[in-house]
Parts: sequence; structure tokens; C-alpha cells
Amino acid sequence: MTDSKIKTMGQQFGRRSWAEPWKIKMVEPIHMLTQEERQKAAAEAGYNTFLLRSEDVYIDLLTDSGTSAMSDRQWAGMMLGDEAYAGSRNFYHLEEAIQQYYGYKHIIPTHQGRGAEHLISKALITPGDYIPGNMYFTTTRLHQELAGGTFVDIIIDEAHNPVNRHPFKGNVDLSKIQSLIDRVGADKIPYISLAGTVNMAGGQPVSMANVKALRELVDKHGICIYLDATRMIENAFFIQEREEGYHDKHIAEILFEFCNYTDGAWMSAKKDNLVNIGGWLAVNDPKVAERARNMVVVYEGLHTYGGMAGRDMEAVALGIKEMVQDEHAASRVRQIRYLGKLLLDWEIPIVEPIGGHAIFLDAKRFYPHIPQDEFPAQTLAAQLYLDSGVRTMERGIVSAGRDPETGNHRHPALELTRVTIPRRVYTQAHMDVVAESIKAVYDEREKTKGLKMVYEPEYLRFFQARFELIG
Ligand SMILES: *Cc1c(COP(=O)(O)O)cnc(C)c1O
Repeated sequence: MTDSKIKTMGQQFGRRSWAEPWKIKMVEPIHMLTQEERQKAAAEAGYNTFLLRSEDVYIDLLTDSGTSAMSDRQWAGMMLGDEAYAGSRNFYHLEEAIQQYYGYKHIIPTHQGRGAEHLISKALITPGDYIPGNMYFTTTRLHQELAGGTFVDIIIDEAHNPVNRHPFKGNVDLSKIQSLIDRVGADKIPYISLAGTVNMAGGQPVSMANVKALRELVDKHGICIYLDATRMIENAFFIQEREEGYHDKHIAEILFEFCNYTDGAWMSAKKDNLVNIGGWLAVNDPKVAERARNMVVVYEGLHTYGGMAGRDMEAVALGIKEMVQDEHAASRVRQIRYLGKLLLDWEIPIVEPIGGHAIFLDAKRFYPHIPQDEFPAQTLAAQLYLDSGVRTMERGIVSAGRDPETGNHRHPALELTRVTIPRRVYTQAHMDVVAESIKAVYDEREKTKGLKMVYEPEYLRFFQARFELIG
């Protein structure tokens, strides 16, 4: 059939669909436990989805971290692993890929993203410093605090409002930085911690105009910008779609330009880079690179593997080439939008605009009768598992932790349950099943009660905390 014939057919049916730019070559069977088995598994896990066994989960939307399906080429690349202790050829492939697509000069591999966060925080922060960032991320802020810094939120106010439809809700509010500079002085601010698509705000992007303006502002004060590049591909897609002057640019060009306004980046390769494990730090300043290389041998491994096997570095290098393809980025974001639109049609409260890697259910509006101290977002994650074996995660008061000064719960404005979509793993039929389960839980919302925390770990408590059902 000719292209024009297909087009006419599409118009006749009144729709033109997109589809994933891949086909499935290997499958992993999954199945749903019975309701009784799910109840038992949930109770044993203390109603914390992080404590469930993966075998007890049907559709696993806990995270998009390390859960991507690799391509046939990446698997072939795994066979080309050069497992030399020093100077593995795969390290040089990885270095070239990062230099080519992100544009940074010096590359230090790490075992995953937080390894890179640890190195950059230690290399740049002096105790007593302030680290402004466009909303916190759990591990990022913790490493900044462990290095003696204090995190300061400088994201625009719109980001804290789940119903505000600002197209670039990840943007930095420049006046917030200026007032921090006025208050503490630029010499107490080593760098801006900028995240490309802000996970905790609902996967919301930063505009190119915003990063450009940020660069101009910090240049006047000698402050650097380091990028959390974990989900920059989705950020690049939103720029291509929404920002004047970028509609005809490729994802690869947008990524390169954006990174060019920053001094370096840390990366969880487990996200955008389409692999199951890995991370890296990339910087332009040779002195910072030297400091990080001195530390990587202490905490991660030699500076040409940093905790990754040679084959893993090869898979990251190939993943970088695949992630910048325009069709990949578009299908990634469109799958999430497909799920989000089903929920919006049923008037289920979610964060808008729909973000790049997940749907965020707004637990405050979902369960208005459950007080934040009874963990509405954690409750929602537990209820979804009980309903269908779908696993999601809390991004609210549990994730926010306690204030190190007062010891009280932090009460974030956003109390969200994250329904995170792994890359290249699930189909549209899975999205339908997920949407229908969320609808079933929504229909039961008035009868649902909250949770009580019965065990609380000291650090990153959301990973291991345990709960009991109230009533
Ligand atoms: C996952 C993530 C990290 C940490 O990376 P890990 O590979 O999990 O250690 C840092 N920042 C963001 C935005 C992330 O999503």
C-alpha cells in the first residue's frame, strides 16, 4: 500500500496512531496472583511496594530505573565486553558517546547515578555551602547534605501546584537565586544543581530559554551549573514540542545545546541510557575531573570502569546512540500520555501537564479525607497493588523524610503516587489494564483508610519503612 493510501484510510477512520519503533524478539512471562495471595504479600511487605518480591508483582511500574529493555544491538555489544582491569576498550566507546552527544570533556564512570552524585558533591561542596536546585531529588539532596551543604529549592512556584499547566514547570525562578545570592553571598554557592525534567515535580521540563538565562545570571557571579542529566531526553522532547524555534531540531541537537550551557553532569544510566545498571560523571573543568578521578578509585573502582563491567559500559555507549533517535523519544513520551489521557477522561486527579516518564496520581485530591500524616500516596500505592498486582511508588511525605534540624516530617506540597513506565517494556494493552485498576481503586476511594508507620529507617526511609492499615 502506498503512503498516501494508508493516509487516506487513516483519515477515513478518523485517527492516525503512533506505534513503538521496535518489535518484540523475546518475552518474559508475567502473571497476576489471586486476591488472597496479594493481601498476604502486601501485609508481609509492610504495605511498602519497595518490599514486595518482584515475582508477586503483575505489572511493575515501581520505577523506570534499570528496568529498560535493551535492544538486540546492546545485547550483541555485551558480548564485546573487554574485561581488562585498566583501559577497557568499552570505556573509550562510552567516553566517545558522551563526548559526542552530551558534549562534555572528561568522563568518569560510576556504578550508578548516586555514585556520581557522591563524587561531585564531595568535589565541589565545602561544609556551610548552599546548593540551589530546581526541586530536590532524594539521593541528590542527601549527598549534598552529607558533604556539608544545605539544599535550597529554587524551582518556580507553579511546580508545587499539581493543577497548574505551565509548559515548563521544571524552570528555575531566577529571582529565588538572586535573593539567595544576596542573602548568603555567591562564594557560598559552588554550583546550581539543575535537573532536566524534574522527577519530583512530575517529570516536568526546563526550557532552553530558562537554562540560557540561568547561565547568564550565574556567569555574573562565578557560579557553575551541574546538570542531573538522568532524563534529559524527555526534557529535549518537550523542548522540541513546546518551545519556539525548536520544532525542526532533532533531539540530539537539543540535548547537545542544553548541555552546552552547563559545566558538567551526573547521570543515572539506568534511565535514559537504556541499560540495567551504570552511571557516569562528566565535567569540563580539568581540575574538577582530577578531584573526582582521585576519589573514584576510593569509592567506585578504577577511573576506566568505576564499578561497571566492560560489557555494561558497551551497553551504555550503544544505549546513548539509541536514546537520541527522535522516534524513540516521541514514543516514550506518547505512551505515558496515552495512559494519562485515559485517566483524565475518567476525571481521576493527576499532575498536569503529563510528564515524561510517569503518571503522578495526586493523592491529596484522590483521598481528600486522609490526612498527610496518614500517608495518602503510600496508601494509594498499597491499594493499587491489592487491586491488581500493579506496583507503583510513593512520592510524598514518606519520600520527603524528616527535617534534619527539627526532626519533624517534612510536609511537601505534592503528595503523589508515581506510576512509572519502564522504557520499551510494556504495551498499550498493559496501559489499559493499569488505567482500569486505577479507576477501580478510585471508585472505592471513600471507603479507604490511611496507614500508620510502624518502622522508620534513618536514611531514605521510603525504601524500607513499614506500615499497617488503619482500622
Ligand atoms: C535515579 C535518579 C538518580 C540516582 O541514580 P541511581 O542510578 O538510582 O543511583 C538521580 N537523579 C534522578 C533525577 C534520578 O531519577
